[in-house]
Amino acid sequence: MIKKTSLLFAMFLASSLSMLAQDKDAVIEAIIQEANENSQLETLGHELMDGIGPRLVGTPQMKNAHDWAVAKYESWGIPARNEQWGEWKGWERGICHIDMVHPRVQSLRGTQLAWSPSTPKKGVTAELVVLPTVSDSLEFVNWLPNVKGKLVMISMPQPTGRPDYNWEEFATEKSFEKMKKERDGQTEAWNQNMGNTGLNRRTLPVALEEAGAAGIVSSYWSRGFGVNKIFGAYTKEIPTVDLELEDYGMLYRLVESGQQPQLHIVAESKELGKVPTFNTIAEIKGSEKPDEYVILSAHFDSWDGGTGATDNGTGTLVMMEAMRILKKAYPNPKRTILVGHWGSEEQGLNGSRAFVEDNPGIVDGVQAVFNQDNGTGRVVRISGGGFLHAYDYLGKWLHEVPGEITDEIETTFPGTPARGGSDYASFQAAGAPAFSLSSLSWSYWNYTWHTNRDTYDKIIFDDVRNNAILTAILAYMASEHPVKTSREKAALPISSRTGEQLEWPTPRSPERNGGQN
Ligand SMILES: [Zn+2]
Repeated sequence: MIKKTSLLFAMFLASSLSMLAQDKDAVIEAIIQEANENSQLETLGHELMDGIGPRLVGTPQMKNAHDWAVAKYESWGIPARNEQWGEWKGWERGICHIDMVHPRVQSLRGTQLAWSPSTPKKGVTAELVVLPTVSDSLEFVNWLPNVKGKLVMISMPQPTGRPDYNWEEFATEKSFEKMKKERDGQTEAWNQNMGNTGLNRRTLPVALEEAGAAGIVSSYWSRGFGVNKIFGAYTKEIPTVDLELEDYGMLYRLVESGQQPQLHIVAESKELGKVPTFNTIAEIKGSEKPDEYVILSAHFDSWDGGTGATDNGTGTLVMMEAMRILKKAYPNPKRTILVGHWGSEEQGLNGSRAFVEDNPGIVDGVQAVFNQDNGTGRVVRISGGGFLHAYDYLGKWLHEVPGEITDEIETTFPGTPARGGSDYASFQAAGAPAFSLSSLSWSYWNYTWHTNRDTYDKIIFDDVRNNAILTAILAYMASEHPVKTSREKAALPISSRTGEQLEWPTPRSPERNGGQN
């Protein structure tokens, strides 16, 4: 009798387990099917990158993006909201034209740096000058009056606009070596001279402005064909523009050969006073453990030389698409699935640091955070982030993802916590198990990251689709996991730099009143 009961019980158990397995497979199947057959990625990418455009903190476009995301989530039946966490200097990019008007006319490829002051309505026309070679700061100060009414070129002219990989392919070994040696020497001399002025990248434009310069012209080559990094300006009254390498080099050579080139610059940006900054938060409430959280994480802001397509448009698309798919394939999660689209990551993880600081309850309830923020490529690296038992759960969850998506993923356990870099670091610092879904490069560092070429055409939608499937399945598995994940920290390794054991990073407060200089 006893035997019979236990046999029956065993049969019941076996059948309910296989039911569970079937249900589980059914959810995963549904996730994959929705992602592949009803993908919204191209539409979302077009609306965000082409329609709304770049998302610099403090711009109206950043606010437009937050409002767009809330409306999207609501259209998918997912409650969403914008949470204010601070304020920033408000600024909006306007029409910007840079033309050479002497010794001949040529329209140039360049743009205002972020937050750069505007020109008068009709623009400025002025002659270009380059920095002198000086032996000390006194000599530089004596030269400074020469900049009055002039546009000053402050970047080293590159000896070649061909990236090294192109030289490697076509140059003789001898001429490639010679070019690199000359470039190294030129760079060293340039830095030495900059040191002699007593100024640096930040303080030089300010000193030139105070000496009466009409504007600053720089060029931050990103070591690829036609590609420059576009960051923020340090001037307060006069415009700072970046010119692409080809144009910058030509002008520099014209100055040096005594042809006194002149530019006409029109830069119609607007200062908008202080504006509020936000994170967009959307949630699918947990049915069994609503106070435990699986968090999908991607910063929403960008620099504005391009449209922020791979930094971090693609991370944004992955998280939005994963949420949309989860709402369809897994509408009643065990734990709450929350997505955070953070503001102002680019100026120091500000949105996510604010969220962590303002929501200790949510941070305590974190089951797992999945962050994606290094380009359009398929995920190829996942680290345990220094959580001692991360392998036990993350390994199990990854096992449920189709092999064709996980095949190339290299895992490191237990790994070490990040000290910055992207928003998962904000959560790790607070002890919450947070993981970076790290992408294949697709020439991210040279061609798209913070550049004027970070645009829609660089998105690899098949890879982004894989990442959305991966994220949705990991979120599903984390939500269903039988127990709360361990937060036990691994003993960190000895630092090769200090010889001392590394310490776990601690939470840092965000900048909540930014861009006020
Ligand atoms: Zn980023």
